[in-house]
Amino acid sequence: MSFKAVRDQDASMRLLGNMLRRRRVPNGLLFWGPGGVGKRLAAIEMAKAVHCREREDDACDVCLSCRKIAGGNHPDVTFLAPVKKSRIINVEAVQSMTALASLRPFESDWRVFIIQEAERMGVPAQNHFLKTLEEPPGNSLFILITESPGVLLATIRSRCQRVRFGTLRPETVASLLERTRDLPPDVAQSIAAVAQGQMSRALDLVDSDKREVVLAVAKQLAEGGDPLGLAEDFASRIEQRRGQIQTALKAEIDHDALKEASREEREEQKEQQSALAEALIRRDIMEYLYLFETWYRDALVLSVTGDVARVLNRDQLDGLRATKVGDIDRKCAAIEKARIYLERFLNEGRVFRDLFLVLAD
Ligand SMILES: [Zn+2]
Repeated sequence: MSFKAVRDQDASMRLLGNMLRRRRVPNGLLFWGPGGVGKRLAAIEMAKAVHCREREDDACDVCLSCRKIAGGNHPDVTFLAPVKKSRIINVEAVQSMTALASLRPFESDWRVFIIQEAERMGVPAQNHFLKTLEEPPGNSLFILITESPGVLLATIRSRCQRVRFGTLRPETVASLLERTRDLPPDVAQSIAAVAQGQMSRALDLVDSDKREVVLAVAKQLAEGGDPLGLAEDFASRIEQRRGQIQTALKAEIDHDALKEASREEREEQKEQQSALAEALIRRDIMEYLYLFETWYRDALVLSVTGDVARVLNRDQLDGLRATKVGDIDRKCAAIEKARIYLERFLNEGRVFRDLFLVLAD
């Protein structure tokens, strides 16, 4: 692989190639854009290209250095990511990274650090990192990857060169789905359309039953199903999912380490656990709302324009045509309102009851 392996990000890949060719690689690069569009892959290809012994502006994929990085065992390429339990990149992790940055590289001229979910650095960690960025060791490259650059300190952002990543083309997502999930082309194309260029979303749609659930609810509401009963079922589904997430997180706890921890540390860990569980469940809920939104938007687009190409759920045309579109603006507004309420942690059961009542209208 090489920069060519990073799909649909041609301008950004050219930018990286030019930096290498002109030998003007900055110490900080900020890869930002939506999830699941190739930022991490691009960071690995950049690390390979920086170290490559054969090529100047890309990775050859053949030399020892390229192969070591592809295998994840090059001593001068280091990954930093939020740790599993707290989902935080703490100051200690950043300190050990910057200590490493101050040493000479082992095998080549550069040390590359790839910081995934960089926005997960706490403020103390960011401040510590900032000091290193202000006076970076000459031969170190920090690649920060994030979906939310706004969460990073402005002083960090201004010291990194930004590289923007956009969504993928639906054809790209569909062909990746066909390959990685072994889906028939028509199913892959529908999922790709609904995912709107985010590979991570497309994979979640394949691997979870969210879309089936939303399609079933929309269908039942259109056929005069009881919105209150459906809302109750839906809320208990969310509650069940919350239980699953909490159990999975509990299984991750290192009980031996916990025995030696102080009471404050134990309390803190508990708090972090429940914060993480809530973040995960909220991500799920937001995906459900996204799917409802695509459904009603599609019903409207189809009835107004009749243009199937503009419809995302294009494998569901019969269901979309059966959906009443008289009051779709109100329905979309209700979905947006539900999103805002749920972001404020309002009672889920109630929010969905109010939402389904409007959607049933
Ligand atoms: Zn190489």
